[in-house]
Amino acid sequence: MHRLAVLGYPVVHSRSPAIHNAAFAALGMDGDWSYEAIEVSPAQFEPRVRAMAAEGFRGANVTVPHKVEALRIAEQRSEVAREIGAANTLSFDGESIRADNTDAEGLMEALPEPAAGRRALVLGAGGAARAVVWALDRAGAAVAVWNRTAERAAELCAELGGQVDPSPAAGEYELIVNSTTVGLSDEDPFAELPLSRESLRVGQTVVDLVYRDVESELVRAARQAGAQAVDGLQVLVRQGAASFRIWTGVEPPLEAMLAAARV
Ligand code: NAP
Repeated sequence: MHRLAVLGYPVVHSRSPAIHNAAFAALGMDGDWSYEAIEVSPAQFEPRVRAMAAEGFRGANVTVPHKVEALRIAEQRSEVAREIGAANTLSFDGESIRADNTDAEGLMEALPEPAAGRRALVLGAGGAARAVVWALDRAGAAVAVWNRTAERAAELCAELGGQVDPSPAAGEYELIVNSTTVGLSDEDPFAELPLSRESLRVGQTVVDLVYRDVESELVRAARQAGAQAVDGLQVLVRQGAASFRIWTGVEPPLEAMLAAARV
């Protein structure tokens, strides 16, 4: 059996096992491949990862709070992971660990149209925002970044591209990506973020990286306003699909993965 896992702290709510196991079942690969969730604390991360290859693991996804450490411990690092400064996908080749980052690809694959030439507003300056800014800047979007703590936005732009917009007029942007944690609990996105319902409009694409069991308030409001809305599960499934390709070399069944994510 080829084993895979997602490593996080906590990790119990991860949708990744359901998404990947549904993909293996849809392709008839479930006799050979399996995917599980493993909770691992920061102190245990490196020894746990180094033990995995001998236990039959071929790779792992890595989520909060391990993405920076995952890059650090790898012997081989993809260019995108190095530039973003974090890894969400590890592959094991004997003793050697390879680090990739599929968060950027996940976002780009989930966008309904190319980002090139579009005015994009990224909200947030944490780990997720780093991949978003890197991806949109590389794709040729004009990227503006707002963050609650303004200095972090300035640091992110200096490192990865984009311009800080400390008080954005959201209606002027064609693409808005919420890369903050706002919406994970019951916060009102229109109270916490520089957005109003009136700033959402037809012709705009609104991506909310946050995902929950219910549709987020931001996604609901974007749809109501006639904008194209992309929810966090659509992005999660695409980053998982990119990891799946790396590990198996097989084209992933997106529809089965999306259906499993939404159960
Ligand atoms: P993180 O590194 O902890 O960053 C959190 C960000 O949220 C910071 O920019 C922080 O601003 C901001 N923030 C927190 N509370 C806020 C508030 N009340 N008002 C305004 N801003 C606030 O987290 P992360 O790893 O970047 O993850 C962000 C979200 O993206 C999470 O919900 C995660 O689940 C989601 N995510 C989804 C996917 C996907 O595939 N769908 C992939 C990656 C991440 P300060 O700097 O001011 O604290």
